Amino acid sequence: MSAAVSYERVREQFQELKMEAALTALDPVLEEAQKAGKLTVQVLDELLGIELAARFERRVTTNLKLSGLPRPKTLEEFDFDAQPQVPRDVVAELATLRFLHNGENVLLLGPCGVGKTHLATGLALKAIEHGHRVYFLTLHDLVTRSRAHRERNRLDSLLRVLIRPQVLILDEIGYLPLEMADATFLFEVVNKRYQAQKSIILTSNKSFGQWGEIFPDPVLAIALLDRLLHHATTLNIRGESYRLRHRRQAGLVTPPPS
Ligand code: ADP
Ligand code: MG
Repeated sequence: MSAAVSYERVREQFQELKMEAALTALDPVLEEAQKAGKLTVQVLDELLGIELAARFERRVTTNLKLSGLPRPKTLEEFDFDAQPQVPRDVVAELATLRFLHNGENVLLLGPCGVGKTHLATGLALKAIEHGHRVYFLTLHDLVTRSRAHRERNRLDSLLRVLIRPQVLILDEIGYLPLEMADATFLFEVVNKRYQAQKSIILTSNKSFGQWGEIFPDPVLAIALLDRLLHHATTLNIRGESYRLRHRRQAGLVTPPPS
């Protein structure tokens, strides 16, 4: 077979296999290989590497789009000096994503404005960067959507959406009390993910001891906490709101009497 026929066939086969990135890179890679006297196996290695890198990038972009993350706040943007309650080393360990591979949970507790959602989002972005699927929703979203799905008899499909991603972020537990059906659905989500050894990152303004107030049934609250806490890192963040402190430091609000 002539080289021209081979070249045509390689192009066609890349197209057939939907290897767009390799197809685009084919000419420059071949030219460079000729100039540098590279081996055939090096050319193959390079083209396959280019294709895989492009596919990975596409996956990251898609996963970010589907994640439902509100604002992409990164861990790098988190000011640890401003929040000494958040131990750097613990966050650095979480950022290795070992928790995700082990199906462990991350529970972020503390009052409003201390950076819980920021940290949850930062960890979620790390997971996405490494090719994992992530899904973010507030407890309010979960309740609203589960009610809508229940009415249409489609609760199973919502459950599948919440079980599939490697990380589920449940934001703002504790702002609204749950009705029995909502609490039962939340338990089902947590329990299914626990059985599948998939991580949950959860934020709450209530301490675990106060969870009985959110749930209509204290037994359900205990069963839920049991699953959540079995393999988990908990960060208790005290202190005042980051924004409020900054406004106070700028002299925009008067400090509370000590
Ligand atoms: P929470 O979820 O605990 O109520 P957020 O994570 O939404 O708080 O934080 C409120 C705002 O303050 C966000 O814009 C967040 O990025 C910012 N913020 C909070 N803590 C820090 C911090 N330590 N460094 C940088 N930004 C912070
Ligand atoms: Mg928040």
